[in-house]
Amino acid sequence: MRTLQQHGPCSRADMTRRLGVTAPTVSKAVSSLLRGRMLEEFDSKQDGVGRPARQLRLATETAQVIGLVIDAQNCHLVSAGLDGQLHHANLCIFETPKTYRGLISKVVKFYEQVSNGRAVETLGLGISMPGLIDYRQQQGLLSPNVPITNGQSLARDLTAKLDIGCVMLQESHSLCLAQHHYGDTAGGNSRGLDNFVMLDIGAGLGMGVMAGGRVLTGHSGLAGELGHLPRIPDGRACGCGKRGCLETVSCDSALAWLVSQRIGKSVSIDEIFQLTQSGELSVQDEIRQVLPHLSFAISAVISLYNPSKIFICGRMFDLDEKLFEKLLAATAADTLAPAFADCEIIRASVSKSQGAVAGIIEYLTDSLVPGVDGLFAPANNSIDVATAAAENR
Ligand SMILES: [Zn+2]
Repeated sequence: MRTLQQHGPCSRADMTRRLGVTAPTVSKAVSSLLRGRMLEEFDSKQDGVGRPARQLRLATETAQVIGLVIDAQNCHLVSAGLDGQLHHANLCIFETPKTYRGLISKVVKFYEQVSNGRAVETLGLGISMPGLIDYRQQQGLLSPNVPITNGQSLARDLTAKLDIGCVMLQESHSLCLAQHHYGDTAGGNSRGLDNFVMLDIGAGLGMGVMAGGRVLTGHSGLAGELGHLPRIPDGRACGCGKRGCLETVSCDSALAWLVSQRIGKSVSIDEIFQLTQSGELSVQDEIRQVLPHLSFAISAVISLYNPSKIFICGRMFDLDEKLFEKLLAATAADTLAPAFADCEIIRASVSKSQGAVAGIIEYLTDSLVPGVDGLFAPANNSIDVATAAAENR
């Protein structure tokens, strides 16, 4: 799967050469993936003489997966090929319902629309969610920003309703997978990069760590909760129930909160962007307050994980074109010089929708190839999506 993602379509013989394994091994893996509908074969068009060679590619014409992104304000539902390319024509955006039952019924309703947008088989649904998720139980534990999912297994409930394999991922972990499989950076692509960190500084401060080519999940999936380290003694109340957490002072929503306090009405980061673009508002004071906390967070990440790259997802850098440079300078001052020099800090190029799609593809792959030590290797989960999908067929 990774070879086809990185190099594009090829024949079985090419695959054997690229991977440096025997033809029977390739043949066995390919058969399994063809049976699972994750690959498809086609005849390459050759202008010259001779038989056209059978080529393999990630399934795009015969199968699809669905990605669901749940956020505090809105949810996104979109279909994609097994190559991770989103079908933008099949995108539904709806306001995040106030109740869990409302969420289930909205997803079921829009799922029909999105999955029927193309007349191909749907193999599974990946769910990107904020908050703590127990991967073994596939259960949401604590989501400060979408509390209706607390204690619920959205994956299991949707599997029952939709009769299709569903899997939940913590949103920063899913962004890591997307960056790993589909990411591009200004200086080249990040596909196959094995040691990096993803920081999502949107509604909270989320972190995903890719270490040695695997997403670091910890014992039960809760690793990487940087945002809830205590930062301000007796500070502002955080959605997690504690006070003064790092995310209450260092992300887009922290900046929006500070601005809202000053101007006396609640504004989102998107509204702040509009107001600063039109010159009606300056937020330099608030940026000055947020910056040291964000640079502290990044410095901690560099010291703990020694990543080759840190990808940052956030809106605040659109407010001020010099802000990213200022962040780098502040982080350099906070961090041990050799570790900082060895780490490139850049803005992420992938979306949460791509993350949800990467999640279900990873899950399907792990289910089809037992023994592979992936994020959803059999030891790490209790739901057999491949079996559910096969029974569905
Ligand atoms: Zn907190």
